[in-house]
Amino acid sequence: MIQPFAGIADAVHEIVETQSFKRRVILVTSAVLMLGGAAAIGVAPLAPDAALMPTTRVTESLALPDLTEQLAKLEQQELSLVREERILRGDTLGSLLQRLSVQDPDLETYIKTNRAGRSLLQMRSGRAVQVQTDNEGRVQWLHYLHTPAAEEGGKYVTRFLAIERKRQGEEFGFIASEQQVVTERRVVLRSGEIVSTLFGATDAAGIPDTIATQMAEVFGSDVDFHRGLRRGDQFRVVYESFHHDGEYVRAGRVLALEFLNNGKRHSAVWFGEAGDQGAYYTFDGKSLKKAFLRSPLEFTRITSGFAMRLHPVHQTWRQHKGVDYAAPVGTPIRSTAEGTVEFAGQQNGYGNVVILKHWGEYSTLYAHLNGFAAGLTKGAKVRQGDLIGYVGATGWATGPHLHYEVRLNNVQQDPLSIAMPDAPLLTSQRMAAFLTQTAPLHHQISLLREMRVAGGE
Ligand SMILES: [Zn+2]
Repeated sequence: MIQPFAGIADAVHEIVETQSFKRRVILVTSAVLMLGGAAAIGVAPLAPDAALMPTTRVTESLALPDLTEQLAKLEQQELSLVREERILRGDTLGSLLQRLSVQDPDLETYIKTNRAGRSLLQMRSGRAVQVQTDNEGRVQWLHYLHTPAAEEGGKYVTRFLAIERKRQGEEFGFIASEQQVVTERRVVLRSGEIVSTLFGATDAAGIPDTIATQMAEVFGSDVDFHRGLRRGDQFRVVYESFHHDGEYVRAGRVLALEFLNNGKRHSAVWFGEAGDQGAYYTFDGKSLKKAFLRSPLEFTRITSGFAMRLHPVHQTWRQHKGVDYAAPVGTPIRSTAEGTVEFAGQQNGYGNVVILKHWGEYSTLYAHLNGFAAGLTKGAKVRQGDLIGYVGATGWATGPHLHYEVRLNNVQQDPLSIAMPDAPLLTSQRMAAFLTQTAPLHHQISLLREMRVAGGE
C-alpha cells in the first residue's frame, strides 16, 4: 500500500505486513533517510564533471518538495520500523547497518564482542537480516536468518540468530539466542507496472524488498535499474514466500520473472539440478550471466531514488563519455566485470579513482570515490560484483556521485554498446531437464501476461 506523498512518493511509502512470530508491525522504509538525502542533494546541486568539461561549469537548483507536511504525517504515526536487507559480497557490519539505517553503537559493540555475534560477522552474502527499531532509531531486535528454510519432511525450518534489547536490572542490554520457526513454502505470483521506480511498483504490488532487489540482480546485465527504467515498463514475477501459522516470515527466491523494459522483453527462470548451485536462464535455456553488469551500484531502496536527480547535462552518454550515478556518500560500488586492478589512487579531476582491466582490452573506471575497498591494490583480482569502493565527491565533483566509464583500448565506449559474447546454451541432456522443470513457471508467467491483457489495464 502506498502512502501518496506528493513529489517524492516513491521515497516514502508504508507497507503493512503481517510479520513473523505473530507480531503485527508497520514497515516504513527508510523514509526519513530518503527525505534527508533529497534535502542534501538539493542544497548541493550536482554539476557536470569538471574533469571532462574543464571550461563549462553548469549548476542547477533543484526544486524541492515541501517536506514539512510529509514529516508531520510521519511523526503522527507510532512508528515501529522493520527493515530487511540481504548481505552483499564485500559488506562489513558497518555498511550493512548503514543500509538498514541503524545507528546504534551499543549494538555494533555487542555483535563484535559477543560469541553469538560471530556468525553474523562472517557476512555471508545473500543471507537476510531484519531489524526493528524504535522512534529514536534504537534497535529493538535483529534477526540474522543464517539458515533459511532447510526442508524437513515437507516443512521448511528457518533458523536464525535473534539479538534482542532487554531490560537487565536498571539498564537495557542485548541478549542473543538461536531460534527456529517452522514455515511452509508458498509460491506467489505478482505483476506490476513502473510509474517512476521499481520500489514504487513493487510496493504497490505487495512484493517484499528482497524480491525487488533480486529482480534487479537477475537482470543485472540486461537492464540498468537505476537509469534505464521507463514509465509503463511491466513485470511479472513468481517467487517463494515462507509462512508460519499463516503469517509471512520471509521471502525466498525469485523463481521466474518477465520484465518489459522500454519495449524489450526480458525473461528469466531459476534452474538447478542436484549437485549444482543453480542459476537463472532465459525461457529458452540461455544463461543470464554475462561478462558485464549494467550498473556499478547495487540496486537498493537508498540508491533507487537518486538516479532521477542527475544533472541534465549528464543524461546522454555522447556528451559525457561516461555515466553518472547520484548516490549518498558511502554507497558501495561494485566491479561490473571480472578483472584486475590497474589503478587505485588519486587522479586530477577524477579524485579517488579505480581502473579495472578486463578481458579483450576492456577496462572500467570509477571516479570521485570516498574510499577504496580493503586490499584494492594494483594487480589485485576482482570478481564481477565485488565491492571496490564507496561513492564520494572527491576531485572535481560538486555533489556526491559515481562517474563510471567503460573503455575499449582506452577509448570511452557507451556502456550499452558493449558487445557481449552470447552465453552458451545448456547441453541437450540438461535442456530436457530444464524444459520439464521450468514449464510450470513459464506457464505461470504466461497466465500473468494474459490476465493483464484480459483485464485491459
Ligand atoms: Zn561524470
